[in-house]
Amino acid sequence: MKWRPIVIAGLAVAAVAGLIIWLQHARLVGHWLQVHTGTVNEPGPYYGFWSGFGSDLEELGILGAAGATIYSLVRKYNCHEPGCWRVGNHPTADGRFNLCYRHHPDFQGRKPTHELIERLHREHLERQAAIHSKLQEIHQQLTGTPGAAGDVHSPGAPAHNAQAAGDHQTE
Ligand SMILES: [Zn+2]
Repeated sequence: MKWRPIVIAGLAVAAVAGLIIWLQHARLVGHWLQVHTGTVNEPGPYYGFWSGFGSDLEELGILGAAGATIYSLVRKYNCHEPGCWRVGNHPTADGRFNLCYRHHPDFQGRKPTHELIERLHREHLERQAAIHSKLQEIHQQLTGTPGAAGDVHSPGAPAHNAQAAGDHQTE
């Protein structure tokens, strides 16, 4: 279980909620004082509830939704290594995991240097080229031996074609 992102997201939401409640509460206390000291002429003691603290319940709902969104974003973008809270913006080779530089197997726990990026890029291209040539080899084996058969046929074919063309011209 990854508890750190949950705790961090929870604390962030609680801090924002606490700040807003505190600000609202300061206003509310002022309002309460106004009602009870008779400076505001309101029809009942709870008339101001839905326009005062009651409206904060709605804000708490919005905050909850915002918190859930932040949490899901954290879940989506943070490192998939258990217990790691860094941003994981380095996908693994198969693309199933997003890891931070510390936990990505290619980077060996260090920030990728320019040399490492260049080396990995070169290695990737070499691997791609190797795979490509291997595939071509397999393809040639499947479609018939290319070297010998091709060499036997190719000199004969143009000659035959030339002869055919000549024959065609004489007709
Ligand atoms: Zn990590």
